[in-house]
Amino acid sequence: MNIKMTLGETLMLCGIRFQDNLKVFASYSEKEHGPFNCPGCKHELVLRKGRIKVHHFAHKPPYHCQRGEGESDAHRMCKESIYNSLSKYTHVTNLDVEADFGAVIADVYCLINNVPVAIEIQRSNLSVNEITARTSAYEKLGINVLWLALFNKKLGEKKYSRKAWEKWCHATYYGRVYYWVADLTIAPVHFAEFQNYVESSSWYSESGEEQSAGGYYKYSKRYRTPSLGTFLNLATDFNPHYKKARTSGTVYTPQSRVYLDKLKKWW
Ligand SMILES: [Zn+2]
Repeated sequence: MNIKMTLGETLMLCGIRFQDNLKVFASYSEKEHGPFNCPGCKHELVLRKGRIKVHHFAHKPPYHCQRGEGESDAHRMCKESIYNSLSKYTHVTNLDVEADFGAVIADVYCLINNVPVAIEIQRSNLSVNEITARTSAYEKLGINVLWLALFNKKLGEKKYSRKAWEKWCHATYYGRVYYWVADLTIAPVHFAEFQNYVESSSWYSESGEEQSAGGYYKYSKRYRTPSLGTFLNLATDFNPHYKKARTSGTVYTPQSRVYLDKLKKWW
């Protein structure tokens, strides 16, 4: 029977090395060390060491597995960089990448000063519902979650249109969204109100009276102005924090354990 594959190819940073059952990075593996298997579906993986993409594993077709789905090359690079940088700190233990907890797979997991932390890197196709569900799953597991997004140039502009998940992170982390810059450097961004200027205009009514409107600033519903805080180090500048469920405006944030920076409000 010919089954048409509808899933796009998914790529992974790590695979399970068959000979010793260890999880290994594609970057540190060679073809001779194989075979390698998927930690999820156990099917065989192909090791690809390219010059353009981050070294990775891919499933040997045909397969039907969602591991690594929705992850971009930038996402994998970020994950590997955070993992490698965290491994240099002695107060960071139990470090793992793509750590499988059953209900959730953490991009990076570790204990920082014995506090369990899951680092989740936002991928484009993750909905607010999924983020909420994952955050609740971590809460039940007793793990603090740090949601990160990749830094983008638009954050330097005055007028920024936030995506739904950015609004969600902003509500969850008390007015901050965390963006990964490099290694363990995190840029915390607050989104301040943006005001649109409403041009003044005047005209005459039918009865000949002069009418006027505008000439003032009005808060924009759509836009915000990014306000960048001091750069943070993921391994040293965050604390665990327990947060109750809350609804603010249209954003619902569940009961959660968040990993929150130690900065005072900078806005
Ligand atoms: Zn698989």
